[in-house]
Order: sequence, then C-alpha cells, then structure tokens
Amino acid sequence: MKGAVFLDRDGTLIFDKDYLHDPALVELIPRVVEGLQKLSEAGYLLFLLTNQSGVGRGYFRLEDAVACNQKMMELLGDEIVFQEICIAPEAPGESSLYRKPSPLFIEEMLVQYNLLAQECFMVGDRQSDIESGLRAGVRSILLECGKEIPDSTSVYASEKKVARSRDLFDAVEEVILKSNSIS
Ligand SMILES: [Mg+2]
Repeated sequence: MKGAVFLDRDGTLIFDKDYLHDPALVELIPRVVEGLQKLSEAGYLLFLLTNQSGVGRGYFRLEDAVACNQKMMELLGDEIVFQEICIAPEAPGESSLYRKPSPLFIEEMLVQYNLLAQECFMVGDRQSDIESGLRAGVRSILLECGKEIPDSTSVYASEKKVARSRDLFDAVEEVILKSNSIS
C-alpha cells in the first residue's frame, strides 16, 4: 500500500457553492475524476473530510449534506471509493472534535489503517485544510482553483510540508505522484 490522500470536498472535488444542500447543484470540478483515478491506480486510499457548518448554523440538515455527498459519489463513478467520510457539522466556535483545522480525523485514520504520515497528504482549498494536515504531520497541498489566496496563507510559504497547486489534478500529477517516486 502506498499511503492515503485526505480530501476536502467543497472547492476541491466539487464547486464551492455557499452552504450547498441541494444535490441537484453538486457539480464536479473538471479533471477531478481523472485525478482520483490516478491516485487509486497508484494505490492510495482516499478519505473525505468536510466541514459543513451550515448544519450547525441551522441552514440545512445533516441528511442534506449526506445527500450531496451521495450525489458527488454518483458523479465520480463506482471506481472511486472513499474508505471513510467525515462530516464535521458544527458551526465555528461550537465545540467540535473533527471540524478542521482539527487534525483528529486524520490522526485516527493513520492509526486505524496503519498508515505512515510521511506517505499521506491533505488536499484542500483553505487554510484550515492545510492546518489540519500539518497538525497531523502529513504533507499538505493548497489548491488555488482560480481563487485569490488570502495573505494569511502566506504564513505557509516557507513551510516545507506545504505545496500549492492549481487544482486537484495538478496536485496529483505534480506533487503526490512525483514526491512518492522520489521517496
Ligand atoms: Mg473547501
């Protein structure tokens, strides 16, 4: 086994539509299927870790977030399998075990699946994604996805464990597959 990739959902796999709760609006980001297929073929386990504060804020129900995940899976196709999915439903400021930047889900999966942190990656489009990865000791990739990256993320510019990529597909090709062929 190669390792694992922990993936954010909104803005990483599907387009980030604020407080998405209608499965009909789930839309894959281009080349995500191809990127995830490459990871699977290379032997990486895939995990999904998504903050859904819309539940905690009372904007929609946990079932709505689950239905959106299911719609995403349909669009991804049967070949793409997530070993485990973690939805953190709390609003910011509410007490939460798993809401990113918490590293807990990643830490637990490393133990449960007997994974080495140095063979794992966290991929996401926000600072909280990167922080959860770094706190769990895994390399992290910040996706730009055509967005302006706020200055606050420049704090990671000198951090050796953080890379930047344009989108998931580039992250897979330029960072994940390459770095493991070197190590
Ligand atoms: Mg995101």
